[in-house]
Amino acid sequence: MIRLHVTNDLSVAAPVAPTLDQSRYLTQVMRLKTGDALLIFNGRDGEWRAEVAEVLKKGVILKAVEQVRPQATTPDLELIVAVVKKARVETIVEKATELGARRVRLALTQRTNADRLRLDRLDAIAEEAAEQTGRMDVPLIDDPVKLETILDGWEDGRRLMFCDETGGAPTVEALSAVGSGPWAILIGPEGGFSPEEGERLRALPFATRVSLGPRILRADTAAIAAMTLWQAAVGDWER
Ligand code: SAH
Repeated sequence: MIRLHVTNDLSVAAPVAPTLDQSRYLTQVMRLKTGDALLIFNGRDGEWRAEVAEVLKKGVILKAVEQVRPQATTPDLELIVAVVKKARVETIVEKATELGARRVRLALTQRTNADRLRLDRLDAIAEEAAEQTGRMDVPLIDDPVKLETILDGWEDGRRLMFCDETGGAPTVEALSAVGSGPWAILIGPEGGFSPEEGERLRALPFATRVSLGPRILRADTAAIAAMTLWQAAVGDWER
């Protein structure tokens, strides 16, 4: 069944207007006709069965029929990742969505070789991944910001899983010792963190410094491994 992320509020019989691109996808790619069913979600009102109410020149109108799943509460996990090559950032956004991150923050570090990123494209990747993976929200993707700015404005109570290939504690044990709650995972750039950045990160009272094993991973692999271990240790996999 087709799943579509929409922005309208969802309630019984509410009209829903997908974007023009989504409308084209529904009618031209998936060949839906008036009365055909699909699933929709907006990040707030759970997942709904909907049907195509009208096919107009300027887009499709859907009608929400009934809620099939209530809005789920998901673990509060952010992924902070240094900007790396565009293709790897795109992979990271897709996988972060599949693995349940609520927000992806792109960080500019001293060794970042900033690639030109298209935020609208990253949003579209996140939206598509959320649609196919069955989640009921789409992660926020933030514009790139300096790592130091992110650390300066750190939110009270959020823990940081600092992935450090130069040495850190075994991940699962270290995370389990801290426990669940709001977390962020930090992955550095291909060139690694600079000595000054490493020093600051190691001294942060809210950081847990972890190792992802004896091999050096590319940023995209590191992000996937880190989110997997986080979910297994303190996330929602056992629910
Ligand atoms: N300093 C490195 C490579 C950095 S890899 C070099 O140039 O040789 C990119 C990022 O992935 C790192 O900053 C770290 O956050 C993460 N990472 C990669 N391998 C890791 C490992 N084995 N343990 C923990 N983090 C790792």
